[in-house]
Amino acid sequence: MPHDLFLATAVSPALELLLAERFTLHRDAPPPTTRAIVGGGQMTVDAALLDRLPELEIIAIHGVGHDGIDHDAVAARGIRIAITADILTEDVADQAIALWLAVGRRIAANDRAMRMGNWTVPLGRRASGRRIGIFGLGRIGQAIAKRAEPFGGEILYTARSQKPVAWRFMPDLATLAAESDVLFLAAPGGDETRRVVDAAVLDRLGADGVLVNVARGSLVDEDALIAALESHRIAGAGLDVFADEPDVPYALRRMNHVVLAPHQGSATREGRAAMAAMVVENLEAHFAGREVPGLLA
Ligand code: NAP
Repeated sequence: MPHDLFLATAVSPALELLLAERFTLHRDAPPPTTRAIVGGGQMTVDAALLDRLPELEIIAIHGVGHDGIDHDAVAARGIRIAITADILTEDVADQAIALWLAVGRRIAANDRAMRMGNWTVPLGRRASGRRIGIFGLGRIGQAIAKRAEPFGGEILYTARSQKPVAWRFMPDLATLAAESDVLFLAAPGGDETRRVVDAAVLDRLGADGVLVNVARGSLVDEDALIAALESHRIAGAGLDVFADEPDVPYALRRMNHVVLAPHQGSATREGRAAMAAMVVENLEAHFAGREVPGLLA
């Protein structure tokens, strides 16, 4: 008898097919016999849901974010969490660099201008030699730093602890923002980082500063960001993630110094195929009693 599996969010047709070959899938009302949950990095798993699923053994995330999961409730029930670690790191870092360059060199704005028949456009901003600030120096943060190194600027970062790297550690986000020309966000969402990028941090980033967020929309006070962009207290923003996805405020959509992406950090054909395979491997390894490669420590 295949195990019952709850699909907490929509997943790609390819992953759904792989799961349907191995499990009995449930989309709306998971039965109490559910042994596994699968969903994207933004799924919510709270204590009320867990109370209805006494046989649940594993939550397999199609992604690496897990800020929507009640970790205390999961740990209290001995349920495992597995993520698709390492597979999407390089793609998300590519997206971060692409957004930075797209804002600075006005790639999207100039493309729109040309399609309207315009040839004369405002100047962009130089990418080389800039001070690159990275908030969260984990897998994605380090991959961003490595990509930024050849641009010849200084690389600064902050995280919960200092790392054994050559890049300069800053004691906190406000200091990092003040010292940076570009501020990349690569820390997890959740209560600890909720709206840490507020009006004060944006003011420290300053009128020549660019914010790039490939982490979670929850890290940014979106109203404060809109206000800073509208009054040109920062130079621009490249945003892959938003406070209330898929709703993106009109104010962000109408500004030319903002480049938007609909949460595409890991959205490459190669990455998504590898992520789907790893979700399946995490589940199969768990149910076969093997080591689960993406087990969250
Ligand atoms: P990771 O390897 O766990 O790294 C997270 C980093 O953030 C670590 O350096 C950690 O510091 C730091 N951090 C955690 N809490 C912090 C806090 N309160 N203040 C400052 N720094 C803090 O995670 P990752 O794989 O790089 O992924 C990072 C995030 O990117 C994910 O959580 C996810 O939300 C997001 N993401 C987005 C996309 C997308 O499509 N846009 C795709 C994948 C992931 P320490 O090392 O000192 O603990």
